[in-house]
Amino acid sequence: DTPELRPTMDRLAADGIDVVRVTYPDLIGTDRARDVLLDHLPSARDHGLAFCRAVYHTSPQGDVVPVAGGLDAGLPDVTVRPDLSTLRALPWEPGVAWCLGESTDPATGSPSPESPRDLLRSVLARCEQAGLRPVVGPELEYFLLEPDTAAPTGWRRYGQGVTGAVYTAGLRADADNHLLPALRRLRDLDIGVISGNHEFDAGQFEINLNHSEAMDAADRAFLFKAAVKELARKEGKLATFMAKPFNDAGGSGFHLHFSAVSAVSAESADDSATGADTGTGTGTGTGAGRNVFDDPTGAYGLSDTARHAVAGILAHAPALAALLNPTVNSYKRFGPDTLAPWLVDWGLDNRSAMVRVPPERGCGTRLELRLGDASANPYLAVAALCAAAVLGIQDGSEPPAPLEGYGYDPEKSPPLPTTLPAALDALEADDALTEVLGKAFTASFLSYKRNEVERFNHHVTDWEFTEYSYHL
Ligand code: GLU
Ligand code: MG
Ligand code: MG
Repeated sequence: DTPELRPTMDRLAADGIDVVRVTYPDLIGTDRARDVLLDHLPSARDHGLAFCRAVYHTSPQGDVVPVAGGLDAGLPDVTVRPDLSTLRALPWEPGVAWCLGESTDPATGSPSPESPRDLLRSVLARCEQAGLRPVVGPELEYFLLEPDTAAPTGWRRYGQGVTGAVYTAGLRADADNHLLPALRRLRDLDIGVISGNHEFDAGQFEINLNHSEAMDAADRAFLFKAAVKELARKEGKLATFMAKPFNDAGGSGFHLHFSAVSAVSAESADDSATGADTGTGTGTGTGAGRNVFDDPTGAYGLSDTARHAVAGILAHAPALAALLNPTVNSYKRFGPDTLAPWLVDWGLDNRSAMVRVPPERGCGTRLELRLGDASANPYLAVAALCAAAVLGIQDGSEPPAPLEGYGYDPEKSPPLPTTLPAALDALEADDALTEVLGKAFTASFLSYKRNEVERFNHHVTDWEFTEYSYHL
C-alpha cells in the first residue's frame, strides 16, 4: 500500500477520474501511452508500466524498427513510471487524467539512452553548470486535413482554395470553425497556450505557447502536438505536423524562442525572459534570474552571452538539422523565399534568417531559431538548441555580421544540409555537440534514422513514376 498517494487518489476520484493516461515520448517524439485504471495507479507508480523498447513507424505494415539495444537485443522492455506532478484532467475525455511518464531501463534502473526527457535533463544540467537556465517559447504550425476518398492518401487539405489568410481568424478561412474550440480545449488542458491564427497556406494553423523553463516548455510542446492530433480526430480530421506535406504549399515550422536567465539562485524564469510572438515579460535588473541575453550597452542591445549563443547555434547548425529536421521530408521545407531557412545565418528582426533576433529588448530579449520543423521531437529540438548555445557561450565564439536585408543569397552565407543523410553525417562528425548530447543517445538516434533513410531509398515515389515512366 502507498499511503502517501491516498490524497492524490482521493482527489482524482472526487473529480470523477477513473483512468489515468500515462504518456511518454519515444525517440522520435511519438506519444506512447497506456490507459491505467485508477486503482492500479499506485502499482504503476511503484513498479512502472512495461513498454517495448523499440520505435514503431507508421507505415501500413506497422513495422518495428530497431534502435540500438532494441530489435537487435530481442525487443526488451522499457519501464515507464507516471510522473504524478504532471497530472491534469483531459478536457475532452471525461473521467480521464493525463500525465507524463519517465522511462527507465529495467535491467539497470537508469534512464534508457533513447529517453528524450533524460537527454534534455542532462543538457540542462550542463547549462546549469555554465550558470544558465534556458527559457523557451515554442511556436508550432500544422496542417488540418479532411477525408477524401478520391485522394491517393485518403486526405485533402482543409479549407482548400483559401489562400492569403495568414494572420486571420474566423470562418472565412476556417469554415468548420476548427480553431476556436481547439484553442479553448487546449486552454482547459492548462499547457500555456496563448493564441492561434490561420497560417500562410490553406488549411494551415499556428498556435503559440507561452515561454517557460526549457523542460516545461518541451513537455508542453509535446502534449500540445498530441492534443491537437486528438482534437482533430474528434472532428473526423487529421492534424499533421509533418514538415512539408504538399508540393503546392509551404512547410510547417517549429520556431523556438530562446533566452536564458542566470542560474545562480534563479527565481522563476517566467519573470524574466519572454516567448513566442507575445512581446511580454516583466522585470529586468541585474540580479539572479535576470535575462542574460540583454545588455543595453552591447552591440545591437545584446549581451556577449547572446552573441556567443548565436555563434554556437550557427557553428553547429548542420548537426542541429539532424535533430530539428529529423525526417527525409524535412529537407523539402528548406529553400529560398519560403520563410523557412535555407542558409546558416542570423539577422535582426529578419524572418528570412535562420536565427532571428526579435526587436524586443530588456526582459524580452531573445533569439528565435526558425530552423526546426513541426515534425521534430520537442525534447530533442530543445536539447540540441541548448547544447549548441552553451557550447558557443563556453567557447566565447563570435558570429559573423548579421544578415542585412532579405536573405536567401547563397553568396552571403553557407547552406544547410539538403538531405537527411547529410545532416546525420554532420551530427556524427560534430564531436563537441555529440559529447554534450551523449554518445549512447547519438548512436541510437543515428541507427534509427539511418534505417529510415534506407527504407526511403528503396521506396519508389510518385515523382519517379511521372518523370521516368513514359519517355525513357
Ligand atoms: N511556415 C514557415 C516555416 O516553415 C514559417 C512562416 C512564419 O513565419 O510563420 O517555417
Ligand atoms: Mg508561423
Ligand atoms: Mg515565429
